[in-house]
Amino acid sequence: MDIESISKKEHVEKERLKEEAEDYYIEKSKELRLKDLTRFKKYFPEPSENMKKDIAFAHKDIDKIATAIVSKKPWAVVSGLNPSGPLHFGHKTIFDELLWLQKHGAEIFIPLTNDESYIVDKTKTLAESRKIAYESVMPSIIAMGFDPEKTHIFVDSDYPDIYNVAMQLSKQLKISKIRSLFGFKDSDNVGSLFYRGAVQVSQILLPQYIEFNGPIITLIPIGIDQHPYILLARDIAKKNDMLPPAELIMKFLPGLLGAGGKMSASIKGSSIFLTDDIKEAKDKIKKAYTGGIMSSKYQKELGGVPEVCSIFLLQKYHFLNQEEAEELNIKCRSGLVLCSECKKCTNVFVENYLKDHKEKFEKAKTEIPKFLLKKRITSILE
Ligand code: SF4
Repeated sequence: MDIESISKKEHVEKERLKEEAEDYYIEKSKELRLKDLTRFKKYFPEPSENMKKDIAFAHKDIDKIATAIVSKKPWAVVSGLNPSGPLHFGHKTIFDELLWLQKHGAEIFIPLTNDESYIVDKTKTLAESRKIAYESVMPSIIAMGFDPEKTHIFVDSDYPDIYNVAMQLSKQLKISKIRSLFGFKDSDNVGSLFYRGAVQVSQILLPQYIEFNGPIITLIPIGIDQHPYILLARDIAKKNDMLPPAELIMKFLPGLLGAGGKMSASIKGSSIFLTDDIKEAKDKIKKAYTGGIMSSKYQKELGGVPEVCSIFLLQKYHFLNQEEAEELNIKCRSGLVLCSECKKCTNVFVENYLKDHKEKFEKAKTEIPKFLLKKRITSILE
């Protein structure tokens, strides 16, 4: 096959991948009966950058959050992660959204689920995931600029009240329901059943307890694959006179290796960590999968496919506003910009971010006590 035919074939394949990725979210939204954000964006004066760029794209009950914001009622957000390594740009997408939500009045709860990291074999011991939570994840979160008065971080194994809540709620959780939602196998460990069934729901419903001014309107920003947890939590909330949480669905940031996978710490080379050194980050950018084609001559003719390009998406999610992202999309599609140029530009964005984050990270280490959740939940034991 000659170079022209190879280039055309490559281009067609990338267009096909683009269609496939877009269909995935459309089909999933339909299947899960989620609503899009058109109405919210129309009436809410200043949507987040993620909403403008369609990265936050679907929801359930977000109108309740809009009402709370407009009427200045208290409301909360819960969003956690399992600590198994440093934060990367995929995590940063969610934290950017949390910052916007906090700016609009949300009290933010961030569970760091070291129990989950251990149970699903992301770390060898509970101690290892606990250490990662304090020494790496927490300083990175704090460095992003959260307000200590309205941000409550906790590591599950250091906040045992979460297990009391889990125990209390677990009585209403039937194994058959958990199996149907998460598809457990007989060979799965009991810990993952209790964690995914009860502990995860307890984190989502934590603000509902009287100690945190509950029952309270709550929003959970999540990836679409986490929707079953919200279903479960909504069900349990209704049985306990709590307010069923709303959800905001975010698209995941694809990894640098392409092939549709999300940025993940467990796939070597797929993530740029917020604590990477500059050289390491640049090496990853150099090898990153793009929507371009092998021959620059034909890329100028055919254009690239930015929607499947990890470099375009990294820029769109983290460094460009909506207009700038649209401009780059058009330039790429019309072959006016080539991948080498784009990668150079990405190097500059990433280098500046990492340098700034490094400085703030060191300072953030000393601020951890201000962010730790200290309030106990005693009402269920009285
Ligand atoms: S030109 Fe830029 S946006 Fe287009 S495919 Fe190449 S790296 Fe991606």
